[in-house]
Formats: sequence, structure tokens, C-alpha cells
Amino acid sequence: MTRAFTFPGLPTRVIFGHGTLAQTAAEVARLGHARALVLSTPHQKPQADALAGALGPLAAGVFAGAAMHTPTDVTDRALAAYRDAGASCVVSLGGGSTTGLGKAIATRTGADQVVIPTTYAGSEMTDILGETAGGEKTTRRDPSIRPEVVIYDVDLTLTLPAALTMTSALNAIAHAMEAFYAPDRNPVVEAMCRDAMVAFHTSLPRLATDPSDSAARGDALYAAWCCATALGQVSMALHHKLAHVLGGAFGLPHAETHAVLLPHTTAFNAVAVPDLLAPISAVFGAPAGAGLWDFARRIGAPLRLSDLGLAAPDLDRAADMAMKNAYWNPRPFSRDDIRTLLHMAWEGRRPTT
Ligand code: NAD
Repeated sequence: MTRAFTFPGLPTRVIFGHGTLAQTAAEVARLGHARALVLSTPHQKPQADALAGALGPLAAGVFAGAAMHTPTDVTDRALAAYRDAGASCVVSLGGGSTTGLGKAIATRTGADQVVIPTTYAGSEMTDILGETAGGEKTTRRDPSIRPEVVIYDVDLTLTLPAALTMTSALNAIAHAMEAFYAPDRNPVVEAMCRDAMVAFHTSLPRLATDPSDSAARGDALYAAWCCATALGQVSMALHHKLAHVLGGAFGLPHAETHAVLLPHTTAFNAVAVPDLLAPISAVFGAPAGAGLWDFARRIGAPLRLSDLGLAAPDLDRAADMAMKNAYWNPRPFSRDDIRTLLHMAWEGRRPTT
């Protein structure tokens, strides 16, 4: 039967390679801007300062206060810096936290964004922004949030610590996993996700032994772009909902939480859609959830929510929160199902499906 689908197009300009950071000035100018504020976390300020130096008169300054989950008080301070500097563009150098700050500025001011991702989280290719105010995280999608240009420079990922390399990559694989069964999936996204599974499967064990393996870094960043594109094109389901609950309400670290949940959410949904998740089991081993758990253990990724700081009594509250605001999932679920899944992930048990 002919398959029906909608392909929304790929609106973001992408530059990929080694040493591509040097193209930042040309990209800011190509967008028609004379002053760009460079953003980073405090940890990556030296890199942001160096980039501002390389941008010369195009740099309107550096704001190095980006933080996880985009707190709105940080955004307010960054907005003041953006306006005081007379900028009309942001250059976000870093992981999802820095990209989030750039998005928060862009959606409030109309600023163009040039994003230079240094993790595999994938925010750079999406129109999604999660922000935290008063301890509550809210997420929304809007076209004004999507970056105009993304510059992937493989060389910048050579410094990504080994542990974050593995968890950030499993975070990316989670985007692909949910894209394989998304009701609005399309053949372009599926092809990219299949390619990404192979590239991550070969590169991550190499990076586990040598994080400075430049060729493996290239494969991993390419895979991350594929998974990020999926996140930016199609809807997510149970996995992302649970990660959102655990990160937003319990303060669990983003990449690690995705990494621990992934085998369990995959195993749960594989029961309903084994055919759609076949690209995962074909690469990581069958059944899909067990295959991903074995792979995560092999590359040294965390396996237990209890190791991430979640206390046993939190499991009930997390299950209650995951049942709020009904959302689509390929397999219907009850509160007991979620409680059992979370308990498996909390104990770090190997799933059987
Ligand atoms: P992160 O951006 O918080 O980075 C973690 C730490 O690693 C930071 O200190 C950072 O400076 C450092 N770091 C990053 N790259 C490095 C490198 N190459 N070398 C050395 N250190 C480096 O972590 P993340 O997992 O990339 O992002 C998590 C945040 O992104 C969360 O707030 C999450 O909600 C958000 N996110 C949003 C989307 C979206 O589409 N809106 C998608 C994915 C993630």
C-alpha cells in the first residue's frame, strides 16, 4: 500500500566538519548582522572569549551564565546584556543549556541564532524550549525558537568528558527511538535515524576507550545531528515525558536521566511496536530494550536512577506526575505500568523485551 506522510522540510542551515568554527563570522554576516552576543556556560567561558576575539567587531560581548533547564532569571540577565550591547544576533557555543538560553533570547527579541553545539543533546535542530521559573519547568514549541544556522565542529567535541559523551549520545538515541514510532514520522527522518544508530553503535565503544578518536567523534556528531533533526521534526512520547518529569520536578541531570530510562521505555514500547523498533534491535541486539541496556553497560553509562539521586519514595510521585496531561504513546499504559517501569530503572534491572 502507498504510504502517506508529510515532510515539513529542513529549515535550518547546517554546516558540518572539522574546524568549521572559523566560519562563524561569515555566517553572522550572511544573516545580515553587525553585532552578535556570544553565549556559553561559565565552564566554557574561555572558549566563548576566544570566539568573541575571533569575531572581532562582530562580537557584542560574551554572556557566560547559561545554566541547565534555562532558568528565567538567567534569561533576564542575558537579555539585559543583549540589549545593552546593541546586539541583533546570538552565537550560542555549548550544549543544550547554552542553546536553550539563545532560544529564550530569540523568542523574546526576534534575534537570529547561530548555534555551535558541543554535546549530542540535539536542542539546536528543534523549535522546543524548556524554561524554569519558580522551580517549575514548562516546555513549548514555536517557530521563533528554531535556530537559523547550526555549525557542527567535530573538533569542539574532543573535550567532551567520556561520561557525558556516553550519556549525551544515549540522550540522542532516545530522540531516534521515539521518532521510529512517532505518528508524524516521515521517511527522511527514519533514514537519518537508522544511519544514526549504526554510527553511534560503532563510534561510542571506540570513544569509551579513546575520547580523542577524531574519526569516531565525527561519526558520533553526525549521528547526533540526525537524531536532533528527528527531535525537531516529529512528536515524542512516553520516554521524553518521563525524562521531563524526573528532570523538571526532581532535579535529576538531563543526559544521565535519558540514558538510564532509554532501555526501559524502549522495552515497554517494543511490546506494542516491535516492527517499528526493528532498526534498534537490528543494531543493538534483540530484544530492543535489552540490547540497549547491554550496550549502555558496555560503554560505561549509568544504569540506575537510584545512582542519580532519586529516592525510593519519589517513585510514586513521579508516576503520578507522568499520568497528568494525557499524551500519545504507541502502547497504552496505566499508573501501575509507569510505577513498574520506573522501579526497574531505579534498580537498574535488565529489561527482558
Ligand atoms: P549542558 O549544556 O548543560 O552541558 C553540560 C556541561 O558540559 C556544561 O558545563 C557544559 O559547559 C559542558 N560542556 C558542553 N560541551 C562540552 C565540551 N565539548 N567539552 C567540555 N565541556 C563541555 O548539557 P546538555 O545535556 O547538552 O544539555 C542539557 C539541557 O539541554 C537541558 O536543560 C535540556 O532540557 C536541554 N535540551 C533541550 C532540548 C530542546 O530541544 N529544547 C533538547 C535537548 C536538551
